[in-house]
Amino acid sequence: RSLLMIPGPIEFDPAVLAALGAPTTSHLAPNFIDAFGQALDRMREVFQCREGQPFVLAGSGTLAMDCAGANLAEPGDKALVINTGYFSERFAVLLARYGAQVTQVDAAVGGRPALEDVQAALQRERYKLVTITHVDTSTAVIADVPGIAALARSHGALVVVDGVCSVAGEELRMDEWGVDLALTASQKAIGVPPGLALLVAGPRAMEAFARRKTPVLNYYADWTNWLPVMQAYAARRPSYFGTPAVNLVFALHVALGQILAEGLEERFARHRQLSRMCQAGIAALGLGQVPLQAEFAAHTLTAPRYPVGINGADFLARVSQAGVVLAGGLHPAIKTEYFRIGHMGAHTTGDVLATLGAIETALAGCGYKFEPGTGVA
Ligand SMILES: *Cc1c(COP(=O)(O)O)cnc(C)c1O
Repeated sequence: RSLLMIPGPIEFDPAVLAALGAPTTSHLAPNFIDAFGQALDRMREVFQCREGQPFVLAGSGTLAMDCAGANLAEPGDKALVINTGYFSERFAVLLARYGAQVTQVDAAVGGRPALEDVQAALQRERYKLVTITHVDTSTAVIADVPGIAALARSHGALVVVDGVCSVAGEELRMDEWGVDLALTASQKAIGVPPGLALLVAGPRAMEAFARRKTPVLNYYADWTNWLPVMQAYAARRPSYFGTPAVNLVFALHVALGQILAEGLEERFARHRQLSRMCQAGIAALGLGQVPLQAEFAAHTLTAPRYPVGINGADFLARVSQAGVVLAGGLHPAIKTEYFRIGHMGAHTTGDVLATLGAIETALAGCGYKFEPGTGVA
């Protein structure tokens, strides 16, 4: 088998996979209602949002983004997108689709907008919501969520965080930082195979939803349909709008239990350690990285640049022959210039060492000159 070191889907824990393989129950069976209800309680803890309203929908991370946009934006609303890459761009396009007037604060590829620029944008215009991509998976740049959230809140805007590549890997404290909605997908640091869109909306987001003047322009994602269902499962009562992904919810229940058993602080520290290992190994091999400054670099993935003269497709095929699967570039402006290593969830220090070993093998095969063993060391 290959070691899957891409930024989602990741390697999954055997207990999570076992839950996925158990015989499917009715979505109204008492043991399922119990597992779903407990999973919702656990989401509040993992997202650190005591009064938050969790939503679990069958779909990918993009559905979670769509759900946030559809329920919070109304035609004519002003939205500010803090752009750190491809997924920030996606949020801008999505919000515009729901009729929002979108303004973006940009940065160079691999950079992130300065807080002064965010402040200036917030002073020029009154925004209903501000979106932040916590870790933009196309650049491996981590945004300053607490800094931006404080500014947005002081200007009365809702703070929406795309945490698809961060929740349960990067430090994220919704209550403490003033984040009104955070979202993710099952297959990243949460550690469940692809198929669940996960959101937690804080009280201000739910109030904004309740004050809507127009219907939600997305039938499936409309909280009007899902709120009673989530409230019922939380109260351990049966309910139905659309059939939940029963086995994935059982697996989510197990994964969230593992995350809380490890401890959130311990988990954040482990991700910092994995990223330090990976980034130190890459640097020792003489490769640069996409984030323009060390403090911009995420802890859930690393985005090394290819050395001059190395062909990306050739390199990735050689890494794969060495038993490790890595991801190519994603940001359109630099797509062929870099690759991506995911290290989150159940990934271990051993996995990172194996990955660095495979990278060395592939670099040597591509003719790159370096001292063998320096990355692993
Ligand atoms: C992966 C990812 C998404 C999209 O999630 P899908 O499950 O692929 O739809 C959105 N935002 C970020 C930051 C991501 O990393």
